Amino acid sequence: MHDLQKIYRNVLEDILSVGINYGNIKSISTREGDYADVARCNRTEKKTFGMVISTTFDIEVCEWLLKDDIPVQSLKDIIAHEVLHTCEGCFDHTGTWKEYAMLMNRTLGYHIERTTKNIDLGNYTPNYKCAVQCSYCGGVVTRRYETKVIKQPEKYTCPYCNREKVLFRIK
Ligand SMILES: [Zn+2]
Ligand SMILES: [Zn+2]
Repeated sequence: MHDLQKIYRNVLEDILSVGINYGNIKSISTREGDYADVARCNRTEKKTFGMVISTTFDIEVCEWLLKDDIPVQSLKDIIAHEVLHTCEGCFDHTGTWKEYAMLMNRTLGYHIERTTKNIDLGNYTPNYKCAVQCSYCGGVVTRRYETKVIKQPEKYTCPYCNREKVLFRIK
């Protein structure tokens, strides 16, 4: 098994070494199960009278990513992708996020991309049966069974961009 905390610390050092300041990350942890989105970054905003007074982030990666047959660089690419989302103005995959990703790729040999399609995940293929996708941001939600969100995606907001009526079934 890969040491998640150790690899995470290496990624943070790499990010700082190219002069990028990441956000206030409270935790990085694993979650069980098979998902098409191998990792995600959850943002929590504390508000007072409608004003955001603090923003914190929690990063989750799928537990299977820590298996030894997943290349370490792939894991670093995936973690760095999520950490860059914690930077100022980087919650989507355009603008500053894209600039930072390209900087990491160019100077440190990372392969950070918008999706994990081209990342080497060893022999692993997730075994989810059903999936819906967001027509706005491209985010994919997967389930092992026909749950409510799979049957009626139009009734749910996208968990990535929070828009309504953008999810449609792809599998
Ligand atoms: Zn992303
Ligand atoms: Zn979306």
